[in-house]
Amino acid sequence: MDVRNCVKCGKIFNYLRGVPMCPSCKSELEDQFQATKKYIRDNPNANIAEVSENCDVSLKLIRQWVREERLIFSEESAIGIECELCGTTIRTGRYCEKCKHDIQHNLDGVYEKGKDKKYNKENSAKMRYLRKDNI
Ligand SMILES: [Zn+2]
Ligand SMILES: [Zn+2]
Repeated sequence: MDVRNCVKCGKIFNYLRGVPMCPSCKSELEDQFQATKKYIRDNPNANIAEVSENCDVSLKLIRQWVREERLIFSEESAIGIECELCGTTIRTGRYCEKCKHDIQHNLDGVYEKGKDKKYNKENSAKMRYLRKDNI
């Protein structure tokens, strides 16, 4: 059994997959997401700060949803987030079309590899901590 601490409330729960968050925090977050999505649909010209304020969701979370391509700003909207590589304004995802194209032609980028390694190390450290905690 894989038990972890919820990243939001810290409670221990049975981890399945995806973000390590307990079921109640997950559904709360999903409600926030749906409300945010609706707000953006109803207010296509709102900027990120307005969305954050009106939906009571942090800028960080909105950006994360956009990066995950769950939230998409309309084409007419002057706002968006920056491409992680060149800084061009994009409406969704992590990279602009040009950089996406470049990445596809350069699949084993050193940057991505290094990042994955670090992530795995952090996770296994967390796991050891949890096991010790539960005994
Ligand atoms: Zn929780
Ligand atoms: Zn770019």
